[in-house]
Amino acid sequence: MSERRGFFKELLGWGAAAAWAAPVVGAAGTAAAQTPTSAPGKKLGFALVGLGSLSEHQIAPALFQKTKLCKLTGLVSGHPDKAMQWAKQYGVPEKNVYNYQTFDQIKNNPDIDVVYVVLPNSMHAEYTIRAAKAGKHVLCEKPMAISVKECDQMIAACKAAGRQLAIGYRLHFEPNNREMVRLAREKTFGAVKVIETAAGFPIDDPSQWRLDKKLAGGGSLMDIGIYALQAARYIAGEEPTSVTAQMSITDPVKFKPGVDESVLFTLKFPSGIVANCASSYATGLNRYRASAERGWFELQPALNYEGIKGRMRSNGVPKEFDFPPVDHFAAEMDDFADCILNGKQTRVPGEEGRRDLRIMAAIYESAASGKRVSL
Ligand code: NAD
Repeated sequence: MSERRGFFKELLGWGAAAAWAAPVVGAAGTAAAQTPTSAPGKKLGFALVGLGSLSEHQIAPALFQKTKLCKLTGLVSGHPDKAMQWAKQYGVPEKNVYNYQTFDQIKNNPDIDVVYVVLPNSMHAEYTIRAAKAGKHVLCEKPMAISVKECDQMIAACKAAGRQLAIGYRLHFEPNNREMVRLAREKTFGAVKVIETAAGFPIDDPSQWRLDKKLAGGGSLMDIGIYALQAARYIAGEEPTSVTAQMSITDPVKFKPGVDESVLFTLKFPSGIVANCASSYATGLNRYRASAERGWFELQPALNYEGIKGRMRSNGVPKEFDFPPVDHFAAEMDDFADCILNGKQTRVPGEEGRRDLRIMAAIYESAASGKRVSL
């Protein structure tokens, strides 16, 4: 399947859904059925690999209190005390607690249907492949990996195992982001011509893995700028054909070679849409805006876990949108469980993660060479 056709197919979940009001579960595309691994009615068991900040503050609480089709049944950690304390807190049986060495034994554990990889970026490929070999479905955090080659290996491993692979693109399940896609796709204000997206935060602790090229695979672009890239792609509804980029480092002590601080990039799409995108670890950036023939629509903040707000303006008339909040992680996990249980294709498959890795490689290439890179 071509890059472009694949993208549209996955966006069917956005465009075809009865817009944002449709329940997220059940709104996904229905292509490529796979054999369900569990009987309908059963909650799927999720094992978390990596019990860091995201698992602690978002994913585990969502699995404990908010998900309808899945529950927390396994823990994988390099810190046995922490894992045991989590097991107690979340009612996970001791036999379902693993470390990175014993992880492959998960294969023999029927309590675990899905492995959710929440590790530093450079570890995503290894744990996805090991999980697939153990016969588990995999939800892997963004960025999918640190190279296109790794993405290919992850996709191949899940295919060979007959298991689904989804990437943790939570905003595909967030109603205000879905509304941006609907407004663009339905040409509510005419055709979209220019997109501006910006995602960033000032990074603190200089010793963290996010500033280590080996573990992070890059800098702000891989971690937060990926949201600006994603939004430009899903608002445009097309795949970019070329990119130009510039990079800037104001703090060479904190940002070592290969770890970008701020990146500005421009994507050109086949219809003529252009997207100006910003990524930064130096400052807060949090806005997506689409300008169309007869008006504009935007989100600000655009990517927070809570409190995303939209505005639009047409013929001088302003209007706000602010859909009821959903827990992004509960929605994302329930949708994946629904896909597995009912043999549907996830709308955020490995192929979608791979597209971002391919474009990010081109962004880095353009920033290094100063030249436009064709995609
Ligand atoms: P974190 O640093 O808080 O946690 C990382 C976990 O990995 C920890 O449990 C740590 O012990 C473990 N780990 C294992 N080997 C390690 C090593 N060599 N170095 C460092 N840690 C190691 O990170 P996080 O914020 O939880 O991010 C984890 C993943 O989730 C990343 O891929 C990140 O991009 C992604 N993430 C996604 C979102 C989102 O909104 N979807 C938000 C935050 C993070």
